[in-house]
Parts: sequence; structure tokens; C-alpha cells
Amino acid sequence: MDAAGADWIHVDVMDGHFVPNLTIGPMVVKALRPHTQKPLDVHLMISPVDPFLEAFAEAGADTITVHPEAGPHLHRTVQKIKSLGKRAGVSLNPATPAKLLDYVLEELDLVLVMSVNPGFGGQSFIHGQLRKIEAIRKRIDAAGLTVDLEVDGGIDQDNCRRVIDAGADVLVAGTATFRGGPEAYAANIERLRG
Ligand code: ZN
Repeated sequence: MDAAGADWIHVDVMDGHFVPNLTIGPMVVKALRPHTQKPLDVHLMISPVDPFLEAFAEAGADTITVHPEAGPHLHRTVQKIKSLGKRAGVSLNPATPAKLLDYVLEELDLVLVMSVNPGFGGQSFIHGQLRKIEAIRKRIDAAGLTVDLEVDGGIDQDNCRRVIDAGADVLVAGTATFRGGPEAYAANIERLRG
């Protein structure tokens, strides 16, 4: 992925509780760290999330993204991530309103809009999320902020242009990147740039 031209390496951490699947923990993130100089963008789909922030920071995450539903005090969680010297992200599930960003957006480095329900790869993009992406883009620009707007879930070479046009500046793609095996990665990534 690194050699094929990915800008960041997105790591989906799932706990079998907050989301149905069980993936990897901080030890695997630590094992990945020496294999790339690119930013490790660690998406925590775990609850409670607060007890694990330090371990993922120490493992070498550059950005740590959490879900508002994964703890009782989102603002405190964001402060904790920043106190660990990491970029802080908040992720919104398809049914989670952008309104939840109201009093925390200024503190963030990244907003992640989930365009599928988190938990599995290979799901289809939920088109209703384009309106949410547009709304958040407007808010970021109106406030003059430099928050990254990332979209994760079902992104492929057919819908990436619409996602970018809605205002996303970071696209996460698993299935669409891995399709065709290693010799196809570079072309797959290039086509996702829209
Ligand atoms: Zn993710």
C-alpha cells in the first residue's frame, strides 16, 4: 500500500462489542509501525475507548479517531488524545447526526463520516451520507477551520468523484484498493483520486 502510493494507512480497530467484528489491537499497530513512514490513521470502533487511547498512541498511531457513542465524555476523550501528542478525530455513524460536532469541531483535526455501518468490509455506500458530508464541509469552511473531512465505507472508483465533490478530502478504501491483488494497488489508488 505504501509503495503503491497510499497517502495514509487507515487501521480499523473493532472490538466485537461496539461493532460486530473483532480485528486488531495495539500490539498489531505497533508491529505495523516500522513498515511505513506514512501516517497511521487509527479508527477505533471500540467501547469503552478511553482506557485504550494511551496504548494506541504508544503503538505509533498518528491520528486517533473515536465514536461519540464509545464513551460518556467526548470532549474529554478528544482532549486526552491531544494530550498524548496525537491528531484527534471523531467518527459519525450513518444515523449519528452532524449536530454532535457542535461544541467539539474546533478541537478536532479530523471528522470521519461513516458511509456504511461500521463492522465489516465490502458493504455498499449509503448515498444519504453525501448530504452529511456536504453539511460538515460547509461548517468547516464557514468556521475557517483546517479539519480533515474523511469518508469511510463502500468507496470505490465509481462513487469517489461524488464523495470528493460533496467535500471530502480523505477517502478510505479497502475493497476497492485491494481488488485485483498487489499488482493492481497503484492503479486502484490512482483512480480513487477522482
Ligand atoms: Zn475505518
